[in-house]
Amino acid sequence: MLSTEAEACRSLTDQQRTLMQKARIFARKEIAPHAQELDWTAKFANTIYKKMARQGLLGITVPAKWGGAESDTLSYALVMEELSNGYASIADLCGLVELCATLLNELGTEAQKQRYLVPLLKAQTTCSFALTEPDAGSDLAALAATAEKNSRGFILNGSKHFIHNGPICDFALVLARSPAAKADDRAMSIFIVESSYPGFSRGVKENKMGQRASQLSSLYFKDCQLPPDAVLGIDGDGFKHMMVVLERGRIGIAALSLGLMRSALENVLKDTADKDRANSAKADSQTVQWAIANMATDMYAAQAMIAQAARLKDQGIPANTQASMAKLFASEAAVKHTGIAVQITGIQGYTQGNVLERLYRDAKVTQIYEGTSEVQRIIIARSLQRGGLTP
Ligand SMILES: Cc1cc2nc3c(=O)[nH]c(=O)nc-3n(C[C@H](O)[C@H](O)[C@H](O)COP(=O)(O)OP(=O)(O)OC[C@H]3O[C@@H](n4cnc5c(N)ncnc54)[C@H](O)[C@@H]3O)c2cc1C
Repeated sequence: MLSTEAEACRSLTDQQRTLMQKARIFARKEIAPHAQELDWTAKFANTIYKKMARQGLLGITVPAKWGGAESDTLSYALVMEELSNGYASIADLCGLVELCATLLNELGTEAQKQRYLVPLLKAQTTCSFALTEPDAGSDLAALAATAEKNSRGFILNGSKHFIHNGPICDFALVLARSPAAKADDRAMSIFIVESSYPGFSRGVKENKMGQRASQLSSLYFKDCQLPPDAVLGIDGDGFKHMMVVLERGRIGIAALSLGLMRSALENVLKDTADKDRANSAKADSQTVQWAIANMATDMYAAQAMIAQAARLKDQGIPANTQASMAKLFASEAAVKHTGIAVQITGIQGYTQGNVLERLYRDAKVTQIYEGTSEVQRIIIARSLQRGGLTP
């Protein structure tokens, strides 16, 4: 109901609507029934991953010739919202594949696309996107991983932590300093690192508060030998490439946050619409009605911000600031409103096994990954101080 109204306001193309509806049906049938169990067991959702690929829900913006859906950023956002409405960890998995697939599609050679992109979009392999290090989280310029040239290609040394799919990835796109990068602290390269390469190892799986089915671990590279063709894109331009792809990533996380919020609102409405129950007075109370109204209003604002950022990106206009605004607003709203939803439903919503309890936990990380809320504020403020974006 909520999404249908929103759909009418979003002036979607047939392709965007078709993808959104496909993702919505998939989320209802294949994701939502397993969400609580996945949260509880914290296992990788392998079956859902394979089904998602068969449904054409991986690589939304990647050309069909490589196995993608050949659609646009707005379609990607719509798919992320719907999948997250089923369970945020599944949306995050779709988002991870989208980032890696976008980099491979835009920067890869024909051989790299055949070897990594095609099997990835069939869910025959799993990928990681490895930037964060113990001393380089928000400040990626402090990155310490290095790749030195040798007679057989490159030798990679360093470690990455909190890497999505780290415990299971077949390959990772790793940002490191390369010989071409010595002169400039932002000059880095992206390396495709297969888990079978000597010197590659993984840390233990992290135990997280929310989005528990997303698998996270450290990755270690100790004199890890890479072939000469392991560089993705231009040697030395990796940081720049990563920043561009993160624009789409932030739109995706904003949409994931919106999907979480929608799920919270749907559950609150279900709970408070039950007039036969003893709590009908509560349902009519101003506290509940204001909470519902505020939640729906913030959802509406988030939808508009996400759609605007996505449309700019699809028109080839830099959307960095708008993507940051959408991510900041939607993630803050998701944490706030899932918390209020728990409050409204009292001990029921607070009890393990209740969907609202999970949504509250799942929402928190949206303020942290793909750039924290503080980092989004810095990006937005810098853009304005440099004379960019007139809101
Ligand atoms: C579930 C999950 C999945 C993840 N997946 C991946 C992945 O797949 N690949 C990957 O590379 N990384 C991944 N990360 C890591 C994530 O990108 C980092 O956690 C994030 O960039 C923040 O870095 P940090 O945790 O080191 O925090 P820090 O950078 O140490 O920041 C700590 C706090 O200080 C604040 N802060 C930092 N700098 C400033 C500043 N200049 N001004 C004001 N405040 C500041 C931050 O906002 C934050 O509140 C994941 C993290 C999580 C939780």
